[in-house]
Amino acid sequence: MSHNPIRPWRNIYRRKSRQIMVGNVPVGGDAPISVQTMTNTDTSDVRATLDQILRAAEVGADIVRVSTPDEASTRALREICRESPVPIVADIHFHYKRAIEAAEAGAACLRINPGNIGDAARVKEVVRAARDHGCSIRIGVNAGSLEKHLLEKYGEPCPDAMVESGLDHIKLLQDNDFHEFKISVKASDVFLASAAYQALADATDAPIHLGITEAGGLMAGTVKSAIGMGNLLWAGIGDTLRVSLSADPVEEVKMGFEILKSLGLRTRGVQIISCPSCARQGFDVIKTVEALEKRLEHIKTPMSLSIIGCVVNGPGEALMTDIGFTGGGAGSGMIYLAGKQSHKMSNEQMIDHIVELVEKRASELEAEAAE
Ligand code: SF4
Repeated sequence: MSHNPIRPWRNIYRRKSRQIMVGNVPVGGDAPISVQTMTNTDTSDVRATLDQILRAAEVGADIVRVSTPDEASTRALREICRESPVPIVADIHFHYKRAIEAAEAGAACLRINPGNIGDAARVKEVVRAARDHGCSIRIGVNAGSLEKHLLEKYGEPCPDAMVESGLDHIKLLQDNDFHEFKISVKASDVFLASAAYQALADATDAPIHLGITEAGGLMAGTVKSAIGMGNLLWAGIGDTLRVSLSADPVEEVKMGFEILKSLGLRTRGVQIISCPSCARQGFDVIKTVEALEKRLEHIKTPMSLSIIGCVVNGPGEALMTDIGFTGGGAGSGMIYLAGKQSHKMSNEQMIDHIVELVEKRASELEAEAAE
């Protein structure tokens, strides 16, 4: 729960789920909602895959998934898992041998649907490999690839069919006394995904991996994901998430964090509060915010910064942010520190000055946290 006794309308009561481990990252229970992405390189190209994982980790990815469709990929996985700064989930479809190889190679989690890998003996083998190598499993139900018998029973992909598919896969793991699993019921349609996740949340206490699958490009996909996942997260559902975009995995991670930051569920880096600007602006708000976003990308410590064009909203926003700048007249504006008016600063020097102030404040906060 994010508990706010002063502003109770901001409280989100998280669904109680079991906690599992994906490598060293706890998922579920009271663990922070983790942000995932997936590489889109050829996995057998170790260097390219690791580069992408490192870039994703740099912007905050807690977990990264890697596709392992063939033996060359699971061979490469050994070095990838060894060098990766974050736990790796191996993505497997149908080939139970790839799952065993991935577990042996050091994957922290296997994304596999046990009902799709063959008979009970194969399921047992995969579960044994997962258990022997400390892997968890993610069951990944997808509206686009539901089992034939469920499509026949329900007529089309629907929430009940998706949840039934998920529970069938869960049963196969439980029959093997394996409980280190999380589950997703993704769909590209926000109504279907949302209804399926809500039903799933009532049907199991397993940690839930959220996703609106095949959401689209950077802008449309982010809006769709924010609506679909935002509504679920607001209702307390979801322990880990991936924003699926036809875009750089780094963008997926950034968007995942933005969704969580908007709901106060996670904080990371500088959250900029800025106005849309209008004829009253005392400086170019849009260009300034663009420049600051780039120049402050390296800051990981949570902090808030308000960049407001004029005194209509500037002082009020500055009251609620760590650092603020409000446009004034005659080519300068006012800097606010911890909500209080501090000093005047010229528009020309303002970006460099704010970057310095943020970096200084970040070091102070880091030192305080270290103590
Ligand atoms: S804060 Fe001032 S500059 Fe910004 S949009 Fe409002 S009135 Fe315009």
